[in-house]
Amino acid sequence: MAVAEHPPPAGHGEAGEADPLAALQGFLTPTDYDALTKCVHCGLCLNVCPTYRQNGLEADSPRGRLYLMRAVAEGDLDFSAAVDDHLQLCLQCRACETACPSNVHFGQVMEGARATILEEESTRLRRVLTWAVFGQLFAYPTRLVLLGVLLRFYQRSGVQALVRWIMGREWVPPRLRLMEQMLPQLSRRFFRAPPGEIVPAQGERRYRVGMIGGCIMPLAFAETNEATVRVLTANGCEVVIPEAQRCCGALQAHAGAQEEARRVARLNVDAFEQWNLDAIIINAAGCGAALKEYDRLLADDPAYAERAERFAEKVEDVSEFLARVGLTAPLGTIERTITYDDPCHLVHGQKVSLQPRALLSMIPGLEYVELRDADRCCGSAGIYNILQPDMSMRVLDDKTEAIIESGAETIVTANPGCLIQINAGLRQAGQTASAQHIVDLLDEAIRAGRREQAAA
Ligand code: SF4
Ligand code: SF4
Repeated sequence: MAVAEHPPPAGHGEAGEADPLAALQGFLTPTDYDALTKCVHCGLCLNVCPTYRQNGLEADSPRGRLYLMRAVAEGDLDFSAAVDDHLQLCLQCRACETACPSNVHFGQVMEGARATILEEESTRLRRVLTWAVFGQLFAYPTRLVLLGVLLRFYQRSGVQALVRWIMGREWVPPRLRLMEQMLPQLSRRFFRAPPGEIVPAQGERRYRVGMIGGCIMPLAFAETNEATVRVLTANGCEVVIPEAQRCCGALQAHAGAQEEARRVARLNVDAFEQWNLDAIIINAAGCGAALKEYDRLLADDPAYAERAERFAEKVEDVSEFLARVGLTAPLGTIERTITYDDPCHLVHGQKVSLQPRALLSMIPGLEYVELRDADRCCGSAGIYNILQPDMSMRVLDDKTEAIIESGAETIVTANPGCLIQINAGLRQAGQTASAQHIVDLLDEAIRAGRREQAAA
């Protein structure tokens, strides 16, 4: 398929042209089609696109993908396996949105196209798997906990050690070995909502905030969730963790399972709106970007549109919130060389990049080095590293190289997928440096501050 053979189609509603909307085959909604037609084909997004940088193919660039979607929507191109491959290879990192002077909401258009592909064009197996994983597993916390218990047994019973021993043999393809290493180490104790769903502020209460626990975070990063509660309460926040909350729906939306995403979004709106909160805090960048878009996700639902808008307005990443309200807990010294890697859905999806750096600059003793291409994807992208392992690993190799070049001992970031991916890349490269969530570092600094106060 030669995308370049398709000239840019006529603009939507231009004088003398047939209205292209009339030719739309249901591939894109009119809203997504309008978003797509803002592209002026300037190409400024090409060099920030990880897949274009790897392949050098127009069809694997943001502009090329927009051409493809438009051509299919206007009936100039039949949807095919080749078109599907180019669209599925997109990481949905949204770096192209940051680079775009025309404000094309690429992530929204791609999500819409994937929803149509899932419903109309995919195999029955793909539909069933998507329904099973996103509709029947991720949407139900108790089922996830059950899976977590099984995985924890696999990791702690010695079975994983045996598998890893086998994976260490020369004949095992390195990519397969790396994929096994992607399985995060599950926490000894999973994170749960406290009895009564409220953790009081330490000292005078400044704010009442809700906290989204996430789906992977409570199982694999329970300590980080606990650290988030400690950092918030130490800074005068009463933290509400409603038990009825569900996963945010980001993975569902990215896979095209829009109805599943809407279902969990409604449940989250129901779970949080009764608490009269100043903010709703999230410590996972991918989830934060999705939660802030509940207004768009539920815009056509008369019962939820306004409530979703109110919910979305309150959502803040934990670093965004702490930088806005200011830290009141004293921070102690940590002697370490660190760098910061921007999670795509924080820097591109939420435009949050200065706040985490500002918080890190407040910790005494840290030597901060800026990471080359810090805002470039690490290749994790939700479950992309499982679905597209080859491209994911090629993107990760670039990230690992930049980290090694920085000389940092700790790579601070703010998303579970990035933590898993970066640590896997560093292990594979034989490095001792490791990735750490920003709230874990803040929590460490608060504890150091208390020790210093006690010793003074
Ligand atoms: S979302 Fe990321 S991978 Fe997809 S087209 Fe944009 S820059 Fe490329
Ligand atoms: S930067 Fe924006 S307008 Fe330019 S080609 Fe990319 S998507 Fe289109």
